[in-house]
Formats: sequence, C-alpha cells, structure tokens
Amino acid sequence: MASSVSQPYRILERKRAGEALTPAEIRAVVAGAVDGGWSDAQLAAFLMAGAIRGFDDAETYELTQAMLESGERWGLVAEFETLTDKHSTGGVGDKVSLVLAPLLAACGLPIAMLTGRGLGHTGGTADKLEVIPGLDLRLDRRRSLELLGEVGMAVGIATSEVAPADRKLYALRDRTATVDSLPLITASILSKKLATGARAIVFDVKTGDGAFLPELDVARELAQLLVRTCGAFSCRASALLTDMSQPLGDWVGHAAEVRESFDCLAGGGSREVMEVTYALAAELAGPANGPDRAALERAIASGAARERFDRWALAQGAEAAWMSAPDLPLAPAEHVVEAARAGVLSRVATRRLGLLVGDAARGGGAIDPGVSLRYRARLGQTVAAGEELARLYLRRPDERLAAEVRACFEVADHGTAPALVIERVAGA
Ligand code: URA
Repeated sequence: MASSVSQPYRILERKRAGEALTPAEIRAVVAGAVDGGWSDAQLAAFLMAGAIRGFDDAETYELTQAMLESGERWGLVAEFETLTDKHSTGGVGDKVSLVLAPLLAACGLPIAMLTGRGLGHTGGTADKLEVIPGLDLRLDRRRSLELLGEVGMAVGIATSEVAPADRKLYALRDRTATVDSLPLITASILSKKLATGARAIVFDVKTGDGAFLPELDVARELAQLLVRTCGAFSCRASALLTDMSQPLGDWVGHAAEVRESFDCLAGGGSREVMEVTYALAAELAGPANGPDRAALERAIASGAARERFDRWALAQGAEAAWMSAPDLPLAPAEHVVEAARAGVLSRVATRRLGLLVGDAARGGGAIDPGVSLRYRARLGQTVAAGEELARLYLRRPDERLAAEVRACFEVADHGTAPALVIERVAGA
C-alpha cells in the first residue's frame, strides 16, 4: 500500500471494489484526463475498472456532464429552438444521414450533426461526404449558426474543441479493450451530442452481425441508456433498433453511397434506406408540429430534399461545377459474387464484408472512393444457382479478395428476411 495515497489511487481503489463514485470523484478523473493530472496508466485503470464493475445511472450522468463541460458548448438550440440531431452507432452501407438531414431541412426542421470517420468495418459519414470536391466539414459554433440560418442544416466533423476529454479517453479505450462498455459509450456519444445542443435527438442503434454491438439485448440496453441519460439532461430523445444483419441499401463504398443517397433524395433510391430514414425522421418530427410522413414524401417527390442537399453542400464549399454534374465513378475491376447453389440467401457475414471492402478501399493509404460493393440479393430472397448476389468493384482485379467476399454469403434451404426497424425505445 502506498504510504501517501493520491486521490487517483483512492478513486481507482473504490471503482475496482465496485463502489459508486461521487460526482466530485468523476469530475476529478475527467479533469485529470484533460490537464494531464492523471497518467495514461491511471486513466486506463479507471476505464478497465469501470468497464468491469460498471457505472450506475448517476455516475453515467456525471461522466457525461464532466466530459461535456471539458470543451466548448455551442448551445445551438438557443437560436434554433426546434433543432434536431441524429446519431447512428454505425454499420455497413449506412448512408441515412446523407438523406435524412436535407429531407428534414427541406421540411423546415433544422438539423446539425457532427459526424465521424469510419471505424473498423463501418464507413464514416464524414469520409463519404469528402468525396464531394471542395466540401469543408470543419465547423464551429458561428459557422453552424450561419448554415442553419441559410440552409437549415449543418454537417461537420467532430472537432477537438468539443468534449476534449472524450478524445483522450476514447483513444485509451481503443487500446485497452474497454470500447464496448455501455456507460462509457453513452458518455462518449452524449458529451459530443449535448455540446452542440439540439432540442431532440434520435439514435439509430444497429443490431446484427454488422453492428458495433451485434446482440439485440446489448443494443437495446445501449439504446435505453442513451435515451435515459438524455432525459436526465432534459433533452428529448428516442432510439430505434435497426437491422444490420446485412448491408443497408444497395451499395457499400464511399462514392457509391453518395450516389445512392442522391438517388434516394431524387425518389428512386433503395427502399430500405428510405424506410429507415422515414422512421428516424418521424422520431425527430415528434407527435406534433413536425412534418408527417406525407410531408416527408412530398419533399422527396418534389425535389425539395435533393435541392436542399445541393444548397447545403454549396454553402459548405462544394464545387458548383461538380454539384451540377456529380462524377462518382466506381473502381473498374469487377468481380461477381454468384449463388453457389439454388436456395434462399440465409446469412451475410456483414462485419467481415465491411472490413474487406473497407480494407480494399484503404489499401493504398488514402481512401479509394471508387472501391465498392453492389449488394443485389437480400436476406430471405430465393435465388437460383449462379444468380448474382453482389458485385465487387476494385481498383485492380484481386481473385483472393473476391473469394473472401464470396465466402461472406451463405445460401441454404431456408432463411428469413429480418425486419428493418426492430424496436423503438422512448423516454419515460
Ligand atoms: N461513438 C462514439 O462517439 N463513442 C463511442 O464510444 C462509440 C461510438
């Protein structure tokens, strides 16, 4: 036992024993993460003890609050009182943000989102949007307010000014096998979301093989904790548990997903992407005041949502010439994934598929936006022997990779089509 025991030591000892920490203790940890008063070893021990012993709701609230207070708080809702925000836990082919934001903005519901880069098997919204030449995703409070005033939407990349404590702790979680602790995830996500300050947030919590948390009961627990913790901050929130046992929509890959989003905004895109988009939009619209399903559909059919995307992109620096004729080429080397036998598409190793396509896109260092996968058959669909299930687009032919992608698809005698929106989690 150390002769003169430091405050970090005492806190670690208590958390290791499974005791609930006081607000002051949690604030001390977060302050230590930001000012360097806690060493990486002490912070890592805190994360590990917390991941194993857990944090109760009061601790999760305090951790979120302390992390939120570690950086800038934009409080955009003070100027836009119906401001909305959306967060997805990430998946393969998830391009919903690109459709949802202009759709809501076109219907008069302002939305501001700070998005992230791709992680592991998932592609990031920021990486996809950067396919658009000139688009500048650096936002601060002033610029966000200008954009909300001009076009009703602002989409940027998380900045180091917002929740710096999360940046520090997230990097350590990544190295200490503590990424999947639900209270730590909740504090991490909400410290950034609450900093921008929306009136209502919807969480798209994915479940299934390609999700960050594949098990339904664990995904549900996260959804409940996110919604409950938002409630403690008086922020209206709900969550949808949505399926990620197969890619969302028809395309995976940066340029292809931007094109698919344009197709959706023009009324011709994937039914699955639109179903999730409409369901999330309905959550943000709320029971009163917001646009109903008919209004949302009208905004797509009239071209208003697509036009809003263009106005937003131009306002955030996109090149006008490119926006008037978007050039989103696929990589040229095609490999077809055929059904090995007749039957029903019964399983897609979605996480593996996301990793394979993602690794191929990042093969040369920078992301190759043309590397993509067209996902043609869906789970539960009857297929003939030799029928095309998917098509891979690579920069150059790669039979070994194509074989690995083929191995992600399973055709059997039986298989079912999963529901896209599995469950709704609402606040008390
Ligand atoms: N996204 C975040 O911002 N934080 C997490 O911990 C997980 C996903």
